[in-house]
Amino acid sequence: MNRWCFRDFDARTAISGYTVLMKRILLAAIAAAFTLPTQAGFAVDQISFRRDGQSRQAVGKIVVESQDGGVLLEDRAGALWAIQPGEIIERHSDDKPFKRWDAAEIATQLNAELPGFRIHNTSHYVIAYNTSQDYARWCGSLFERLFLAFSTFWKQRGLALDEPPGPMLAVVFDTKQNFARYAQDELKEATPSIVGYYSLRTNRITMYDLTGLESLPKTGRGTSAEHINRLLSLPQAERTVATIIHEATHQLAFNGGLQTRYADIPLWVSEGIAVYFEAPDLQSRRGWRSVDNVNRVRLADFQQYSARRPADSLESLVAKDDRFRNTGAAPHAYSEAWAFNYFLLHKRQEDYVKYLKVLSAKLPLRNDEPQERLDEFRRAFGEDLQKLDTEFMRYMGTVR
Ligand SMILES: [Zn+2]
Repeated sequence: MNRWCFRDFDARTAISGYTVLMKRILLAAIAAAFTLPTQAGFAVDQISFRRDGQSRQAVGKIVVESQDGGVLLEDRAGALWAIQPGEIIERHSDDKPFKRWDAAEIATQLNAELPGFRIHNTSHYVIAYNTSQDYARWCGSLFERLFLAFSTFWKQRGLALDEPPGPMLAVVFDTKQNFARYAQDELKEATPSIVGYYSLRTNRITMYDLTGLESLPKTGRGTSAEHINRLLSLPQAERTVATIIHEATHQLAFNGGLQTRYADIPLWVSEGIAVYFEAPDLQSRRGWRSVDNVNRVRLADFQQYSARRPADSLESLVAKDDRFRNTGAAPHAYSEAWAFNYFLLHKRQEDYVKYLKVLSAKLPLRNDEPQERLDEFRRAFGEDLQKLDTEFMRYMGTVR
């Protein structure tokens, strides 16, 4: 199994979803053609539309509307709907303020959508599961610890995140096979090596019960939180658990206002941050005391890459997302993104946080050209990329 594939999948999905949207909604001369609804009085829109020969309805707030009538709508569960003008049958809007569903309303929707699943609630998550209750609890506790670690990490660095606008959703399947069937349906792509993913469209994490992993000892599944912890702390589970954390980190970034879904956030930032958080310490009650630690797997890969790293590596990482989309180049792109985030967070923290605030203001469905990305980057970190690159590589040479 190529262990990079599943990890890169969220990025590729985001991009392909994004590209489709760009093609379908954005049309040619995009940016100026878009109007944004006023933030203050988001009304509730009801849109009936026809897709794939079926009538559908979406209810929620309009996030973006094109002049030709195409819309990006966010529904009450937090899912995004890109609806083309030609698909719309009828559209009503009222002046009631838009409100996301609460945990109980989400649970009702999930029960209807996933018959046979049960619901586990935590402070910030609604988890639908058809595996053991212990495993659902274990996931809830992992997510909440990550939530706390993530918010605290940024707060300590001068970036206070927003409270998520509604409960965050996770769907946990009992087996890999059931998960794969669902994932293939949703992603329209074969997903044999994926263990979990975050969808920008639905805003959900989908995964399966990892205690059934073939590489783990068969000592009974989901018998207690301690047992699950012990099992998933084994070295052979580390990368798999890391993937789930990686996906959950994306969800936190997009729900805490650090990034906006369908905005053009450079992948070296969104993936770099997810990679930065991915390894928890399951043995520790606090789980992420070690968040600032070196990611050994990524460092080793970066060191390997460094031996033949092209002179324009940093520029190519910053200006475009191509390296992350190319299966052959992606592992090194992820490692370099981790290393560069590590460098910036340790040596240029203030500039980096300022830059993240600039990115967090980016609006959905507006695409930056490579030159705009580079200009924005230079405004944050200085004109001389070569000098920055030298500092970066010198610093990474000292990281053990
Ligand atoms: Zn990712």
